[in-house]
Amino acid sequence: MTISLDSSQTIHPLATHDHQKCVNQALTTAEHLCVERGVQLTSIRHQVLSLIWESHKAVKAYDLLDRLKPLQQSAKPATIYRALDFLIEQGLIHRVESLNAFVGCRCSGHQHEQLLLICKHCQEVEERTATKVMQSLSEEFAQARFVAHSKAIEIHGICEKCKGISGD
Ligand SMILES: [Zn+2]
Ligand SMILES: [Zn+2]
Ligand SMILES: [Zn+2]
Repeated sequence: MTISLDSSQTIHPLATHDHQKCVNQALTTAEHLCVERGVQLTSIRHQVLSLIWESHKAVKAYDLLDRLKPLQQSAKPATIYRALDFLIEQGLIHRVESLNAFVGCRCSGHQHEQLLLICKHCQEVEERTATKVMQSLSEEFAQARFVAHSKAIEIHGICEKCKGISGD
């Protein structure tokens, strides 16, 4: 039996959804991808990934360390950073540069560019592929003869859930 990863999965908006589904899907995808690529999803890496997936909020490394401590008493900052490096390298999480924080990737089955919509109220990050935007950007880069190394756009604002309660 072969396991086929569905890379064409539709991405639902975050406002109303069953988060347990996200968690299950993310962890199953991670397990399959690591087997496929012959890399080790060690228990620490798995725990860090699960902790990141507790929500769609961007989470900082030291918060992850606090949450990991009860599970792994010997965990040190280096433990977290090594696990985060691995998860980024495998495309399972994204670094949110403007917050110096991390968020689970909802389409890790394939390499992709990202538009990250970051809510300043609840810190949730919605990831969108924004194909048209990225295409336009590529054209701009070509005109400028500029070689872009990463194409991640981070936009700060208010999400649908927080719009009514934040007063913004
Ligand atoms: Zn979710
Ligand atoms: Zn992603
Ligand atoms: Zn929000």
